Amino acid sequence: MTKQALTIALAGNPNSGKTTLFNQLTGANQYIGNWPGVTVEKKEGKLKGHPQVIIQDLPGIYSLSANSLEERIASEQLTQHSPDAIINIVDGTNLERNLYLTMQILEMGIPTVVAINMADMLSRQGAKLDLDKLSKRLGCPVVGISALKGTHINELIAEALKVAKSGQAPKALAYEKDFEKLLSDADAVLGSDLQENQRRYWLTRALENPESLNLKPASLDELSALVKSYEEKEDDDIQSLITFERYALIDQVVEGVRGGKVPDAVSTSDKIDRIVTNRWLALPIFVVVMTLVFGLSVWSAGPGTFLTDWVNESLFGDIIPPAVESLLVNWGVADWLQSLILDGIIAGVGAVLGFLPQMVVLFLVLAFLEGTGYMARVAFIMDRLFRRFGLSGKSFIPMLVGVGCSVPGIMASRTIEEERDRRMTVTVTSFIPCGAKLPIIALIAGALFGGAWWVAPSAYFLGIAAVIISGIILKKTKPFAGPPAPFVMELPPYRWPAVGTVLRSVWERAWSFVRKAGTVILLSSIVIWVLSSLGWENGSFGLVEDVENGLMAKLGGAIAWIFKPLGFGNWRAAVATITGLVAKENVVSTYGVLYGIGEVSEAGEEIWHLLARDFTTVSAYAFLIFNLICVPCFAAIGAIKREMNSARWTWFAIGYQTIFAYVLALVYYQLGTWFTTGAFTVGTVFGIIALVGLLYMIFRRQKDYQKSMVSAAPAK
Ligand code: GDP
Ligand code: MG
Repeated sequence: MTKQALTIALAGNPNSGKTTLFNQLTGANQYIGNWPGVTVEKKEGKLKGHPQVIIQDLPGIYSLSANSLEERIASEQLTQHSPDAIINIVDGTNLERNLYLTMQILEMGIPTVVAINMADMLSRQGAKLDLDKLSKRLGCPVVGISALKGTHINELIAEALKVAKSGQAPKALAYEKDFEKLLSDADAVLGSDLQENQRRYWLTRALENPESLNLKPASLDELSALVKSYEEKEDDDIQSLITFERYALIDQVVEGVRGGKVPDAVSTSDKIDRIVTNRWLALPIFVVVMTLVFGLSVWSAGPGTFLTDWVNESLFGDIIPPAVESLLVNWGVADWLQSLILDGIIAGVGAVLGFLPQMVVLFLVLAFLEGTGYMARVAFIMDRLFRRFGLSGKSFIPMLVGVGCSVPGIMASRTIEEERDRRMTVTVTSFIPCGAKLPIIALIAGALFGGAWWVAPSAYFLGIAAVIISGIILKKTKPFAGPPAPFVMELPPYRWPAVGTVLRSVWERAWSFVRKAGTVILLSSIVIWVLSSLGWENGSFGLVEDVENGLMAKLGGAIAWIFKPLGFGNWRAAVATITGLVAKENVVSTYGVLYGIGEVSEAGEEIWHLLARDFTTVSAYAFLIFNLICVPCFAAIGAIKREMNSARWTWFAIGYQTIFAYVLALVYYQLGTWFTTGAFTVGTVFGIIALVGLLYMIFRRQKDYQKSMVSAAPAK
């Protein structure tokens, strides 16, 4: 049988530059961030110039011991569908740590090339690595590259193709005598329990993580006995012993490999981190940074807002609508079609596009921060905070990714090993406002708060508070109880982000937003226009003069009572909230259409002033709270369903999000109204009851099942 194509798998630690290299090799544009755990899905692409060669981008992993879902995905990929070759990408500035994975890859017996990445950084630091020595000791080709600058990529490709075609696999390095003895004893005990192929890998994995394998109970017992006596002899547990053995090999491999200038003991990154991750300063700095990030994009004097105002008032106010209108009039287009185009499509899509400049500013600042490595520190900082509430910092990485879009954020929860923590993270990730929610925030900020700088940051911190409160509440329930998972993350060094990477990330996010405006939002706007313009008026069905007589007003009116206790029980707000489930931008485009129809004659006027008529500042913020926290859009619900992989848990997430959003908005509106107007009503009583219920859920005593779970915590 001849093989059609060659597959080459890219394996490496998180943040080693795997995606950058993948993009270099395939010409694809994948998402790059300077924090671990961005790539969670297996991605494939064709090698540039070699369409017969498939490159697989595996998840970033520190080991192949199958402790986390990602490690399991990667090891399955390498064992079940073994590729023709592996390119093992190694961060050259962090050699020892990265070679840990290399040791395991060599055990797999698959043809391998080691790519030592970050050559540009090494030479900037004045460090030199003896690659020949490394290659001899590892027994496989070693190529020094810079994925970012694209240097020596062709050499890497040539070596990878060579080993793939020859099928020549490197030999695993030999451990120290006693440990090799343990391995051969285990080999005898496990016999046919393990497959012959890649046997050495399976043996070490059986020692490290026997539960991840399907061993016969009898063999498992014998293996445990072996391990136990070895542990007693060496006076340590097997996990640490294996780690120790591997690092001993790594020490031999790198001995005398480093030349040139040895980097300072305290690097610049360490110095920055002393301040940025300082026990006392870390949180205040984080608050200031995120306030700046969100404030800058939505604040009335910000650069994005200036452009947004121009787009909203001039481009989609004074310029486009009158021009299109006179065209349509000239062509003699029917009135209803004019209205569909002007009040439906242009008003709806235009309303959303208007917020693009603010969004670009947000994406730009975020991409810059991601590129520097600051966001990775945030996960580390949040771990300290989250841990107090029973959450792990691991849960924060999905939320960092989710600032762009909840879908990849929810997917990033795969890095979490503990099933209960993973489910909880999937449930709460969308509380962090995604890019599509920015227009809602900006709309409310602009129309009711005069573009005050604090509105957008407050929405972000509201999201974080919602996550923490949910963490506390859910952790006290049986399905979620348990200690937080250990969180080990290596902090990448601070770097100046590459301009290209930043721009590409902004472009991709902005473009996907524009694409959405041209498809989902466009369609929704048309539907909303149709439903709003048709209805019964003066006894007959047809196009209505007054939008209040339209079907939409009736439909919205029928459900508006649900939102009455939250302060926005009018049909427009109800319709906007419901259409927001399709895509969050719809909240804004819906208002664009609904006000567009009502105000045909006033083309050019800033329609957002009209919004202020429907709200008070208190009810507007309650509207914001509900729309930010409630069920996300269809796409994100789809992601939740995939990650939960269970209808029950998906419904749990949807139900929890809705009820939680409702309670928060209710408490805010009722108590806010009471405090600002002094009027104590029946609603206030409900608000107080909801608040007491919420506080009870937060502060009630924890039951004892927490303790029994401690022993089940994964060993690390
Ligand atoms: P992954 O997590 O392994 O997929 O890593 P990424 O490809 O996302 O890269 C992580 C960070 O390292 C990004 O900020 C990249 O710009 C940066 N990076 C990747 N390769 C190089 C390189 O060769 N030199 C330098 N200086 N930075 C790099
Ligand atoms: Mg990646």
